[in-house]
Amino acid sequence: MDAIDQIRNIVGDAGWVRDGEEAEPYLTDWRAVYKGSAALIVKPQNVDEVAKVVRVCAQAGLPIVPQGGNTGLCAGSIPDGSGRAIVLNLARMNRVRDVDPTNFSITVEAGTLLVNVQAAAEAAGLMFPLSLGAEGSCQIGGNISTNAGGIGVLKYGTMRDLTLGLEVVLPDGSIWDGLRGLRKDNTGYDLKQCFIGAEGTLGIVTAAVLRLVPRPRTRTTVLAAVNTLAQGVALFEQLQSEFPEKLSAFELMSDACIKLALKNVPAAVYPFDEPHSWYLLFDLEQKREGESEAELEALLGARIEAGGIEDVVVAQNLAQSGRLWHLREAIVEGERLEYGSVKHDISLPISAIDSFVGIAAAELEARLPGIRVAVFGHVGDGNLHFNIVRPEGMTKEVFYEAARPLTDYIYELVAQKGGSISAEHGIGRSKIAALARFKSPTEMSMMAMIKRALDPHMIMNPGKIFEDAHDRRQ
Ligand SMILES: Cc1cc2nc3c(=O)[nH]c(=O)nc-3n(C[C@H](O)[C@H](O)[C@H](O)COP(=O)(O)OP(=O)(O)OC[C@H]3O[C@@H](n4cnc5c(N)ncnc54)[C@H](O)[C@@H]3O)c2cc1C
Repeated sequence: MDAIDQIRNIVGDAGWVRDGEEAEPYLTDWRAVYKGSAALIVKPQNVDEVAKVVRVCAQAGLPIVPQGGNTGLCAGSIPDGSGRAIVLNLARMNRVRDVDPTNFSITVEAGTLLVNVQAAAEAAGLMFPLSLGAEGSCQIGGNISTNAGGIGVLKYGTMRDLTLGLEVVLPDGSIWDGLRGLRKDNTGYDLKQCFIGAEGTLGIVTAAVLRLVPRPRTRTTVLAAVNTLAQGVALFEQLQSEFPEKLSAFELMSDACIKLALKNVPAAVYPFDEPHSWYLLFDLEQKREGESEAELEALLGARIEAGGIEDVVVAQNLAQSGRLWHLREAIVEGERLEYGSVKHDISLPISAIDSFVGIAAAELEARLPGIRVAVFGHVGDGNLHFNIVRPEGMTKEVFYEAARPLTDYIYELVAQKGGSISAEHGIGRSKIAALARFKSPTEMSMMAMIKRALDPHMIMNPGKIFEDAHDRRQ
C-alpha cells in the first residue's frame, strides 16, 4: 500500500477531501492570489490520527502543510504547485475540552474557531480577549501558529501572551503533551514558544490551554476625526496616560480606507456629516456604567476646543458601537473588493509613526501619481497596515508590477525607522525574500538551527518562512 492509501486508511472516508470543486477552498488563499495543489487533503479527527499521518509522511518524505481556517494573509497555509504535499486541515478537531474559571483558563482543540472560544469563555462569565476581523473563520491553531494580534493587543497582548500550554505533533510523529495551565514554570526552556508564530514549520499544534480574563461590565466606544496623524498619535498618548487600565483598543483609519469601505461594503455606515483626513476608533473597558464618562467628556471637549479633534461620536449603545466597529472591519473587505492592492503589515515605534507615514506617502505619490495609500491598524501597539491600492483606471496586473519597487522602498524606510516588516501576519510564502533581507544573518542562522533540530528532514510546511531547500537543489 502506498503512503497516500495508508493515510486515507488512517483518517477513514470522512477524513479526506475529494478532488475538484471540493478541494478548491483548501488550495487557494483568502485573497485568491495563491493557488497550490496537493497529493491529498486530510482532516484528522484527533491527535492520534494526526500523529499517525505525520509518521507516514515522515517515512515517505512527504511534505505536510498544516492548515487552519485558511484566513492567513501570507499564504502560509497553501501548498506549492508541485502536488507533492499533504494538506492537513484541523477543522474536525474542534472540541472545547475544559473550562476552568478558577484558573482563568480554557483547553481547546486546535481546530476550534476563535469565535467559539470567545463564546465558551463568555458562557463561563469570562472573556477570551483575542479579537480580529476573521474570528468567525480562523482557528485557534492558526492563531497560535501566526501569533495573531488584532484589536485587543494594547491591553491583553498577542496570542503569545494568551497561551499557557500546547499539545503538538512533532515532525517525526511523536506527540508532545505540554497542556499545562501554569503562569509560572521555569523548568528549563519554554518549549511552547518555539511553536507560537512558527507558521506550521516546526510541528502541528493540536490543542492549547489559553488564558481567560474577567469580562468587562461595560465598554465605551468612541470615533474621533482629526486633521493630522500627529493629532491622532497625541490623542493616543493622552488616553493611554489617563486610562491605562481601561484603554483596550485604539485603531487608526485614513480617509482612503474609509472611502474604500463605504464604496464596496454596502452595510458600512459613515457617522459624520463632513469627510475628514484621519479617524481614531477606541474602546474604554469599565467595571461600572458611566464610570469614566465625565473624565472622557472633559478630555474630548478640551481637545475639540484646542483644535485637536474635528468631530467625535461617542456610541450611546451596543448597536451604535457595533456600527462603528463594523466600519473599521469593513476596510479589509473594501480593499479586497477594489482588486489591486498590496499589503504591508508593519510595526514601528509609536513615536516614529507620524514621520514614517508623512515621508512614505509623499514619496509613493511622487513615484506613482494617483496611488491610494490606505493606512489603518492597531496604532496603540505600533502596528500599521500600510497598504497601497492601484490608482483608479490602472489594471491590477500593471499595478502589481509597478508596486514591487514601492514595497522595497517601504520596507527600507521601515528598517531605517527601527520597525518590523511583519507585525502580526507572519512571513508565509509572500515575505520570504524580505525576511532574508531585513533579519540579521545571526538571527536567520539561529532560526535555521532550530528548524533543522526539530525538523531534520524538512517536511513541515516547506517553502514557508525559509526558502524551500528542495527548490534550491533544483
Ligand atoms: C478579514 C481578516 C482580518 C484579519 N485581521 C487580523 C488581525 O487583526 N490580526 C491578525 O493577527 N491577523 C489578522 N488576519 C489574518 C488571519 O486571520 C490570522 O493570521 C489568523 O491567525 C490565521 O488563522 P487561520 O486558522 O485562518 O490559519 P491559516 O490561515 O489556516 O494558517 C496560518 C498559518 O498557520 C499555520 N497553521 C494553521 N493551523 C496550524 C496548526 N494547527 N498547527 C501548526 N500550524 C498551523 C499554517 O500552516 C499557516 O502557516 C485577518 C485576516 C482576515 C481575512
